[in-house]
Amino acid sequence: MYIGRFAPSPTGPLHAGSLVAALASWLDARAHGGRWLVRMEDVDTPRTVHGAAEHILQQLQQCGLVPDEPVQWQSQRQAHYTAALAQLKASALSYPCYCSRKDIEAALQSQGHTRARHSALVYPGTCRSGSGTGTLPPAWRLRIPTPHAHVQWHDRRIGPQTQNVATEVGDFVLHRADGCTTYQLAVVVDDAAQGVTHVVRGQDLADNTARQIVLQQCLGLPTPHYLHTPLVLDAQGEKLSKQTGALAADTHTTALALNALNQAANCLGLPSAEAATALQDALNQWVQVWPYK
Ligand SMILES: [Zn+2]
Repeated sequence: MYIGRFAPSPTGPLHAGSLVAALASWLDARAHGGRWLVRMEDVDTPRTVHGAAEHILQQLQQCGLVPDEPVQWQSQRQAHYTAALAQLKASALSYPCYCSRKDIEAALQSQGHTRARHSALVYPGTCRSGSGTGTLPPAWRLRIPTPHAHVQWHDRRIGPQTQNVATEVGDFVLHRADGCTTYQLAVVVDDAAQGVTHVVRGQDLADNTARQIVLQQCLGLPTPHYLHTPLVLDAQGEKLSKQTGALAADTHTTALALNALNQAANCLGLPSAEAATALQDALNQWVQVWPYK
């Protein structure tokens, strides 16, 4: 049984880039005769924008992308994340970390490392021995087990992938010092709880996959199949995002929704539907020619 999902963060409305991931996950579920769920990833509360979730759900509906079950909200699932963290703590797979970003930079410099990975620093393991102390609440990190550190996984579109999570990322944060559950822990717990078998999402999230596989193994959860969709770039060659000023996809009439879907379909290598096509007919045409079956 195929279960797929689209899991937007309500940090702004859907733009041309996030609509690609929404359409791809819907088409993949339909092409496999599976179910399609929507999960609102509103766990990173400081970044959540009031009204954005409702806007996203309205855009999906206007595009004919209707979930098969009620929308799940991560903000209502804190007890499940707390239980998963407790399970990891009980098996010594999570430890408290009192390091500030400055502490981590200083520790890396003293070890002779100066290079940052993207903007994130590789955590040098300062608090791994359990010696960390502080007056403020700690963050909780995953103690990456050595046998699970080197991850090989397969992406259904971009092929074989490999990452040594221990050396390329380091023990990553599961629960932040400000009390928020991180994306990594929430998504792993929720995908398993919803029985998700296939994850289809934007390629900007591909780098998280190895971390999520390590976490699945630590929690004894299954690993879904992964497909990461192409990113939509702006005129400057930057990934479309709210941060770079991407506009909301305008879907408020059927013609505009079809236009937005056509752009998303083209990004996925699918042909445009003609202007007079009914939304549902366009979607059905794309299901027929969906290449990732
Ligand atoms: Zn630390």
